[in-house]
Amino acid sequence: MAKRGISILKDIEANTVINLLNRAYCDEWLAYYQYFIEAKVIKGLMKDAAISELNLHATDELRHATLISNRIIQLGGTPILHPGDFLKHSNCGYDAPENPDVSSILNQAIKGEQCAISTYSNLLEILRDKDIVTYDIVSQILADEVEHEEDLQSLFDDLKEFMEQFKL
Ligand code: FE
Ligand code: FE
Ligand code: MG
Repeated sequence: MAKRGISILKDIEANTVINLLNRAYCDEWLAYYQYFIEAKVIKGLMKDAAISELNLHATDELRHATLISNRIIQLGGTPILHPGDFLKHSNCGYDAPENPDVSSILNQAIKGEQCAISTYSNLLEILRDKDIVTYDIVSQILADEVEHEEDLQSLFDDLKEFMEQFKL
């Protein structure tokens, strides 16, 4: 644990930040798995475009889990060790893709991103002026989640337009 790096926190305990980051860490692993498995089971129109987007997002979520776990360790904490705890500590939970239709999967994924955007945006409110290093990391992650929502929404809109055009 590096002392000077932790000493720059203002009006917030390292443990408070660690706990908040651990919740986000659980979200990222669950989001990663959700995208991973959605890309496997998805069926229907425009599935190929959706699969490449879902796989890209899976890679991003895993990268977010890496960024968050590195920061937890910098702050002297331990990232959640048991995957069984992911659901218990997550903010956004997990939505199993039981309906493999492209539109259903895109809808689920959009909801997940909207939850991530709200969660990270709240986290930034807490961290502002208190922990600028974590603030910076979380801002970068939030920018990715905003991009994710937009990517999925535009795919969904294209799909709807296509279906209306051909009265499917
Ligand atoms: Fe993420
Ligand atoms: Fe995302
Ligand atoms: Mg994307």
